[in-house]
Amino acid sequence: MLARCRSLLLRPTTVAIVAVGLLALGCRGGEGGTPTHAAGGARVVVVTTSTVFADIIANVGGDLIDVTSLVPSNVDVHTFSPRPADVRGVAAARVLVMNGLGLDDWLQKTIENASATGTPLVKLAVELPGVDLLPGEGPGSQNPHLWMSVQYAEAYVDRIAAALGQVDAAHAADYLKRAVAYRLRLDDLDAWIREQVATVPVAARRIVTFHDAFPYFAREYGISIVGVAVGSPGQDPSAGDTARLIEAIRRAGVRVIFSERQFPTRLVDELAAETGATVVADLYVDGLGDPPVTSYEALMRWDVDALVRALRAVP
Ligand SMILES: [Zn+2]
Repeated sequence: MLARCRSLLLRPTTVAIVAVGLLALGCRGGEGGTPTHAAGGARVVVVTTSTVFADIIANVGGDLIDVTSLVPSNVDVHTFSPRPADVRGVAAARVLVMNGLGLDDWLQKTIENASATGTPLVKLAVELPGVDLLPGEGPGSQNPHLWMSVQYAEAYVDRIAAALGQVDAAHAADYLKRAVAYRLRLDDLDAWIREQVATVPVAARRIVTFHDAFPYFAREYGISIVGVAVGSPGQDPSAGDTARLIEAIRRAGVRVIFSERQFPTRLVDELAAETGATVVADLYVDGLGDPPVTSYEALMRWDVDALVRALRAVP
């Protein structure tokens, strides 16, 4: 069956212009702003693929929406298999939000299984204006981890605000107001990351990661990625791949290998044993984790703190 979802590829530039207008009028919104209660109306049910996107969406939607993530915290989004309850969740959604670019394409199949093919579907990373995509693992593919650049996460925010405003037009101004306030916080986060990375000597800013989740982060904040342990999660590298990576680690003098909480550490432990590098295995990218990593902002602060601490310790 060939079923297509109505795609909401909205133009964030329009939102940004309106948002700037609101800001100029002093409508800051956010925690201290006008309460945005759905006066008697039902909340907009939003279903998304990852806890990271759920948090970003919650910041834009506030109490006007109910958002759930299909993939729980500490579970890999790349290799996720939806359960029957997830199909029911998708069927009940008023709007669906995914990343796209191969991260969470299983949602398309779930939508068909849920007969939810008429539900608006937002693809956060697809054809996002102002984004310069980097190559992914396969020929012609693109790396999906755009949100690891806070600048690009802000483009997600604009797209979410526009999408919510379209399905719930009565509250479009509320969504925009919240998006503006949230983006101001993300601006602070972005500035903080730059300050933190600046404390690491340039020569020490070289890393190896478990999966290829950091290229946008690295490009934005001036880190160099020497290699990745696996091409994509769930796919074991060949002995030749690993041997080449070990050689690259030695050649570049990489002293720290970073992995993420939801992945096994066997492979990175092996790399560390071969090269004498140390392993930092508790980063988060594709999903939130245990406290304190319970928001997108907390995830970024956690990762940057761990990266900077490990790289500053490099002799
Ligand atoms: Zn990933």
